[in-house]
Amino acid sequence: MTPFAPDAFDPAGARRTRPGRLRWWWCLMGWLCALGGGPAPALAGARALVDMVKSPEARMYQPDLGDAHWTGGLWGGRAAVCRDAMIPTMWALFQDENREGDWTNFLAAAGKAETFDGRRLDGRHHGPPFSDGDFFKWFEAVAQMYASTHDPQLDALMDRIIPVVAAAQRPDGYLFTEATLAARAGGPAGREFGDPGHFETYNLGHLMTAACVHYRATGKTALLDVARKAAGFLETFYRQASPALARSAICPSHYMGLIELYRTTGDAQYLALARRLIELRDQVPDGTDQNQDRVPFTAMTGAVGHAVRANYLYAGVADLVAETGDPARWATLQQIARDVYERKLYLTGETGALYDGASPDGSADHAAIGLVAQAYGRDYQLPNLTAYNESCATVGYVLWTWRMLALTGDARYADLVERSLYNGVLAGVSLDGTRFFYTNPLRKLHDFAWPLRWSRDRQENIPESFCCPPNLVRTIAEAQDYIYGLAPGALWVNLYGASTLDTAWSDGARIKLHQETDYPWSGAVRLVVDAAPDRPFALRLRIPGWSRPGATTVRVNGEPAAGTPQPGTYFELARPWRAGDVVELDIRFQPELIEAGPLVEDTLNQAAVRNGPIVYCLESNDLPAGVRLEDVALPLAAGGDRFTMSRRRIAGADLAVLTGPGLVLPRGRPEPDGLYREVDSAPPRPITLTLIPYYAWDNRGDTEMSVWLPVR
Ligand SMILES: [Zn+2]
Repeated sequence: MTPFAPDAFDPAGARRTRPGRLRWWWCLMGWLCALGGGPAPALAGARALVDMVKSPEARMYQPDLGDAHWTGGLWGGRAAVCRDAMIPTMWALFQDENREGDWTNFLAAAGKAETFDGRRLDGRHHGPPFSDGDFFKWFEAVAQMYASTHDPQLDALMDRIIPVVAAAQRPDGYLFTEATLAARAGGPAGREFGDPGHFETYNLGHLMTAACVHYRATGKTALLDVARKAAGFLETFYRQASPALARSAICPSHYMGLIELYRTTGDAQYLALARRLIELRDQVPDGTDQNQDRVPFTAMTGAVGHAVRANYLYAGVADLVAETGDPARWATLQQIARDVYERKLYLTGETGALYDGASPDGSADHAAIGLVAQAYGRDYQLPNLTAYNESCATVGYVLWTWRMLALTGDARYADLVERSLYNGVLAGVSLDGTRFFYTNPLRKLHDFAWPLRWSRDRQENIPESFCCPPNLVRTIAEAQDYIYGLAPGALWVNLYGASTLDTAWSDGARIKLHQETDYPWSGAVRLVVDAAPDRPFALRLRIPGWSRPGATTVRVNGEPAAGTPQPGTYFELARPWRAGDVVELDIRFQPELIEAGPLVEDTLNQAAVRNGPIVYCLESNDLPAGVRLEDVALPLAAGGDRFTMSRRRIAGADLAVLTGPGLVLPRGRPEPDGLYREVDSAPPRPITLTLIPYYAWDNRGDTEMSVWLPVR
């Protein structure tokens, strides 16, 4: 493998010349260098968010960071809020004198007596042990935003932060601010990775990913050097480690982190280490479903346990498969993926239904059953009022399903990426970008007062666990990286939204185009080619799986394209392209009533309204005075097509609401205990309903809300 040659990286020059990234070129150069004994070639390419350009099993790779941009519409608005509110507000929060932890832990561990703005530090660790990793997620968002904006202030900020992180690292590469500060205070020196609750590998994994993104965005290696030292420590440590220590892989971001480090540096030891750590899981004694290590990976048949841990593991295994093949793990991974989207996925693209439960629940092997929390439930167990749906699990699901898309080219996975991004991820953040959900229920009723661990409203600060907010912020900052995919001779359009693309294939051929569209409020997408290579390529347009057969037309330069677009596939236009060519994709859709299959008890006889990719909900402040949300139903005779769309602003965000017929059900005579009541056969009272996108709820005070409504 190729040693890393940082000096050869020149972002400006590379952007001009687009060094070749073809696999054959790579192999040839390596072979020539090996033959001649000369220096290995400088690393070329490797500037995408997830860089699969040389991954042998990947069917597509992402354009480089900064090559795709939202230019308006829903995502343009969210990206602007990310730039102007999410990132700076979080940085201000990290420095707030009432919020020690995250950033101040790094300052203290680096031996600093004061914060950047001159406030004295007490030298102690604050917050949970995983706050190091949460800080790195925010840093990754900054690096991605820098790649998008080239704002020199962001670059300067990162340049101030990185030396502090580097100074907080032990000379041997170990980096865990809680341990460093405890040791400095004369406390007991705990054994590295001895306590799974310390989340050290989670912290280090996020360091590695943030460092790769920072390097790819800036060409600077300062944080990459810190990450390589940390990975070196892991490598040395796990040479001797017993399988029991694999238990420290809690929310294992480090499989993704190590493999991305391999992709960035070409150093095969990181890939080998990731593989060894994933294999080590199979030998964990007394493992649990909670941590996905009760049985070896290839013995698993479905998604179990803590959903963030699960989705991070599955994404990491997908990365391993992309690099090494590994047919046995790949078969299992596909089976688990199917288990989730067929039986355990919310309509809103969220996962991890349970606050607390048991797994394998109901098993005849009683001894095998263990407690699970923040977890995937049984098949079809999808409660709404108590849905856990941690925002981090939704982020993990995007990370995982995008990798499945890259490995398969199967449009189904692009549908899943869209479903989670356009509904679940966006729902995690308030429209003004300052408040965050830890858990994401699909229904909230004030009368349901069962005590739950996390707030039912978005919070600016979640001191007990700030894992979700920066995870959401980095994902929103990075959403444009998922729009397009590249492959030899092909350009995949995975997501729709007003955007531009200015990029090059790995052989240097350039493509520039833009999308003019109001998607997701309309399915009319105009793709305009602004510059094209002088050889033909296949433009692959995703025809959403949620669209109806026959509802989509494609025209090229005004002429109908040959072939029939099929929902759930890519529609391919293979031809020579010239600047000025126009592709008009029209996915005609209207609001639809959606129901779950009969095995989902929590939504029996209920429906949700979906318009294109956007799932809608009813929020109580859109109801007439005196009408309680729990009494509202949808008239079956109405159908979704009686809902009409109109534009509205909520909390400064432009979006589309739906207006249509609803019913107020009469309340029956309650029995003495109040739990049951006799059905009142009086006719329901018609009202007009206004539904808003699910992602936009909880922006107008303490409301009641429901995605699912009874159908009468
Ligand atoms: Zn979280």
